Amino acid sequence: MQRFLLTMILGLSLISTFAQKTYLHCGQLIDVKQLQVLKEKTIVIEGNKIIDILDGYAKAGANDKTIDLKSSTVMPGLMDMHVHIEGDPSPSHYLDEFTMNTSDYAFSSIPIAQTTLMSGFTSVRDLGGSGANISLRKAIQKGTVIGPRLYTAGKAIATTGGHADPTNGYREDLMGDPGPKEGVVNGVEDAYKAVRQRYKEGSDVIKITASGGVLSMAASGENPQFTIEEVKAITSAAKDYGFKVAAHCHGVEAMRRAIIGGVNSIEHGTLMDESIFPLMKQYGTYLVPTIIAGKSASDSAKMPGYYPPVVAKKALEIGPKIQNTFAKAYKAGVKIAFGTDAGVFKHGKNWKEFVYMTEAGMPMIEAIQAATWNAADLMGTQAILGSIEKNKLADIIAVDGDPITNVEVMGKVNFVMKDGVVYKSKL
Ligand SMILES: [Zn+2]
Repeated sequence: MQRFLLTMILGLSLISTFAQKTYLHCGQLIDVKQLQVLKEKTIVIEGNKIIDILDGYAKAGANDKTIDLKSSTVMPGLMDMHVHIEGDPSPSHYLDEFTMNTSDYAFSSIPIAQTTLMSGFTSVRDLGGSGANISLRKAIQKGTVIGPRLYTAGKAIATTGGHADPTNGYREDLMGDPGPKEGVVNGVEDAYKAVRQRYKEGSDVIKITASGGVLSMAASGENPQFTIEEVKAITSAAKDYGFKVAAHCHGVEAMRRAIIGGVNSIEHGTLMDESIFPLMKQYGTYLVPTIIAGKSASDSAKMPGYYPPVVAKKALEIGPKIQNTFAKAYKAGVKIAFGTDAGVFKHGKNWKEFVYMTEAGMPMIEAIQAATWNAADLMGTQAILGSIEKNKLADIIAVDGDPITNVEVMGKVNFVMKDGVVYKSKL
């Protein structure tokens, strides 16, 4: 036993003395800070870090590994700021709430986490689920499950009857009266308690549903659902615990309160107008558009019986508006971070958001910046993620071809490295 241990220790020290470096030969490399496409570069990785970026195709040492990405475009790992990783969409969604346990959601999230990473998303924000999302994050960190870096809200926070009230639409005797523990607040004290409860449970980010929403069993998809005092209580409690706050929001008045109340991002932003653009800029609030979710919810609503009537009506009204709003917000100079609401549509198709963003007038290189550098800014992780630079964590992906001239290649991710580990390589 002792000899075995000694061999192990010797082995480990040998590994650290002659650590193998990885040389990525990149045909094209996207500089997401300068918005430039660089040609013929070599990224050198050691352990989980980028240690150098060299001109041309540098020759690796005898013990090192070279990966040929000369016909690919290399960029930082993509980041989706709005997913629900516990499940894919299903017409049985509303019944599932009565039949699925947290552990069922946990199992259903495992292949989704893997699909998400393999499609090039090395970091995602999970903006609300059953709580299995927190266990999933731990399992990914331990290496038990393959998936992206997960920053999860745990349970979303709503007000009574609000978009994320977990018992909306239930039979009266099943509704109960959920409180801060379940993610429902009424008043300033509750708001503080709900944030502290998320801290206790292990959330990474706070999600509130500032306005009504499409998929909840409630009449309005846009009304304000928090007072400004409640929003301020959420954001000031969040500050105490180092949380960023994401606000689901469709309607204008809800948005005004959320922005002035100090949230970091407006999710969807569907009815955002000229009265809101200057506020977003003044407060430095990000818009996370989720155009694909709006489109796919309105498509699903056209299938008879897919959604309950109260939901179908809202999906048809609200869903198709997001792309146009995004176009106006971008033109007005609002800060944009990439997000899709995957889970409202099937996970793995997150890349299609790039198609809709460019259709709406955003140049592709800026859309990639929104999914890397800006997203890292929104998460507060720019010091370690979001660009390919010396001393940053090695989260790197490549696509087969040139995304600047053909957005469809974002669906052809042929290389995924997270934390210096290669998860996908077709070469
Ligand atoms: Zn969502």
